[in-house]
Amino acid sequence: MKPIGLYIHVPFCERKCPYCNFFSTTKITNEIVDRYTDIICNTLVKYKEKIKLSFDTVYFGGGTPSLLGDKNLIKIIKTIKNNFKLFGSEITLEINPTTLPIVNLKQLREEGFNRLSIGVQSTIDRELKTLGRQYSQKDIKNTIKLAKIAGFTNISLDLMLAIPEQSIKSLKQSINFFISQDIQHISAYLLKVEKGTLFYKNKNKLNLKNENEESEMYLFLVSELTNNGFKHYEISNFARNGYKSKHNLKYWNSKDYLGIGPSAHSFLAGRRFYYQRSLQKFLSGNSEVIYDGKGGTIEEYIMLRLRLSDGIKNNLFKQRFGINIPQIYFEKAKNFQKYGLTVVDKSSIKLTNKGFLLSNELISRILL
Ligand code: SF4
Repeated sequence: MKPIGLYIHVPFCERKCPYCNFFSTTKITNEIVDRYTDIICNTLVKYKEKIKLSFDTVYFGGGTPSLLGDKNLIKIIKTIKNNFKLFGSEITLEINPTTLPIVNLKQLREEGFNRLSIGVQSTIDRELKTLGRQYSQKDIKNTIKLAKIAGFTNISLDLMLAIPEQSIKSLKQSINFFISQDIQHISAYLLKVEKGTLFYKNKNKLNLKNENEESEMYLFLVSELTNNGFKHYEISNFARNGYKSKHNLKYWNSKDYLGIGPSAHSFLAGRRFYYQRSLQKFLSGNSEVIYDGKGGTIEEYIMLRLRLSDGIKNNLFKQRFGINIPQIYFEKAKNFQKYGLTVVDKSSIKLTNKGFLLSNELISRILL
């Protein structure tokens, strides 16, 4: 079996951000964190006994994985190295500027972590306050500086668009700061107000952006980053040459990956499955894996690949499915070309930047 991706979910956060609906808890103790680490390590060993796997990407996401601390992060990475082959792996750790004091970045770099994804979101104090983030631009700068001193040469920063107080002017300030930091990758997401969050409860009191404002911000961001040497390779992702996220590309290319931890999803040998969203069950070692049906179908592949700027290409499609892209998809995608939403030629279908803004609607209309 070819090397696949490994995702380790760490469901711990210092505090819950008011817009976030990821699976995480703030009720953590040293005992819980150590127990969680042991279960992750035991689960990895069990997989080794069941199935022959090797990895070329490892991603510690969350939550806030750095809250595991160096000792536990190193324990997990050693368990991975001792039980599986790692082929030139990209090994990513998500961190927040505030969690920096609890990890020794230099030591983590020496143990094989080689990519950091830093949850910055904004560099403007009042926007950070609205998002419930407890750090300043100075802390962000310091985190990036320490990451570089520790030897990290592949750093990604998260940026949020359509924050209630944000304007094009303040967005430009954040973008300029990001560019000035000489980092390799930027992930930029529009704020979504999800059910079950504090923002959702208070949505009428928040000065949320309308669709036109969101579009203006997104198109402004794309133009600023591409004019400054970042390749826009996925709806929300931008990279310097050679620094696309190898792990996340597995998701968009519908390649295999294994996810471990409550709520973590996997796609393995044609099947999709996920762990229950229960920390308690996971800690008891009795978390069930729930099967989510067949994966890797033609429709799913098209849906995922249309998130990429390269779109779907006949040669890759034929390699994977043994047939050309069905004509029906070209015909449907052509209907949107005159509105500047798609680009269709003989062998490929892509969404434009304007098309990305309507991606869910467009992709479902192309596929239906
Ligand atoms: S945004 Fe990140 S730090 Fe904030 S609650 Fe969600 S996972 Fe935790």
